[in-house]
Amino acid sequence: MEICIHRGTHEIGGSCVELAHDGYRIAIDLGLPLDAENNDPKWLPNIAGITSPAEDFLGIIISHPHQDHYGLLAHVPENMPVAMGMAARRILDTASRFMPGPKPHLGNLELKDRQALTLGPFAITPFKMDHSAYDAYALLIEAGGRRLFYSGDFRAHGRKAAQFERLIAAPPAAIDCLLLEGTSLARLDEDQHFDTETDLEDQFAAAFKRIAGLALVFASGQNIDRLVTIYRAALKTNRQLVLDLYTSEILAATENAHLPQGHWESVRVIIPHSQSRQASETENLYKRHRCINWAKLHELGSKAVMLCRSSMINQLARSGNLAGAQALYSMWDGYLEDGKLQAQLDALNIPLTKIHTSGHADTPTLKRLVAALQPNTVTPIHSQHPELYESLFPNVVARTDGQWWSI
Ligand SMILES: [Zn+2]
Repeated sequence: MEICIHRGTHEIGGSCVELAHDGYRIAIDLGLPLDAENNDPKWLPNIAGITSPAEDFLGIIISHPHQDHYGLLAHVPENMPVAMGMAARRILDTASRFMPGPKPHLGNLELKDRQALTLGPFAITPFKMDHSAYDAYALLIEAGGRRLFYSGDFRAHGRKAAQFERLIAAPPAAIDCLLLEGTSLARLDEDQHFDTETDLEDQFAAAFKRIAGLALVFASGQNIDRLVTIYRAALKTNRQLVLDLYTSEILAATENAHLPQGHWESVRVIIPHSQSRQASETENLYKRHRCINWAKLHELGSKAVMLCRSSMINQLARSGNLAGAQALYSMWDGYLEDGKLQAQLDALNIPLTKIHTSGHADTPTLKRLVAALQPNTVTPIHSQHPELYESLFPNVVARTDGQWWSI
């Protein structure tokens, strides 16, 4: 089997790996680089079959529904075979109704936990992982008697930590090469652990108790683990969870009845101006979502936790009094760097506190995966610090973008 990382040997985002064997090729992930200023076809890696017709190219496997792993799917030929988890596909399909820009081609091949999918000479076995994206997989890819393990993005401190423990307890054997994500390297000391989602639940509950008015939480509508954490903390402190329509539709798209839903008694849904078109296109809107208006939201005040986004703040401020309101920030710090959200909140005298944990594995967790798999080689991917791998893991072979090698 021949392998080429087109993008990702020294950066986070824009992941794409091409594999070749016996005259056929496939790709794993087709992500948009994090620093791409737009979703332009110019970011496509040069892979025959994606950028030009080629019969030996069999399809694309998407490990999980994060933009830096699927973001360029809008630019692939319409009949391209694309595989991903079914819930991941429904989430991306739902999200595309709310997002500007071209719709991604989501394909129709299904990744199912621990069930091999065959594309030509490639057998692809997905392993469900704990990650901040829902329906995320690591991938075992076998061809010509060789075995590649792609970690995808993962962690072991989320609400699906049991998935990671299950993999560690019975790992696939005889791995020739492990492509290992290292997003968090250098963000944390080598022996330090990230806070768990359960830790965050306590931190949110303490904050909700402390806040005198409306609690505004800034979190991704697709970080399902985090939504559950916020929901549970809201329940503990007798606050209703108020979602925007987008987030409520994403939760419905999981088709997981254990996750909070917009029609639950303890949940309310608000339709911001920016989502009124989607609301008018939503079938059974009032049956599927317990909608409230802005006046009702302000009336709830200290009895509510509102999932907020920057685009909603003006409407929120215009529609009522925000005395005692506080904001909690539960996303990657980098999104705060432009200062825009802070300026919006400062203008309203709303203090901002951070409550967050990473969607990616800490170093002790990365080491546990390597120790369990005992791969012949470990190759860095999805990391800004490939140079750190050698001091942390055995048998490291770093590669450069565009370099082909064989196992
Ligand atoms: Zn991810």
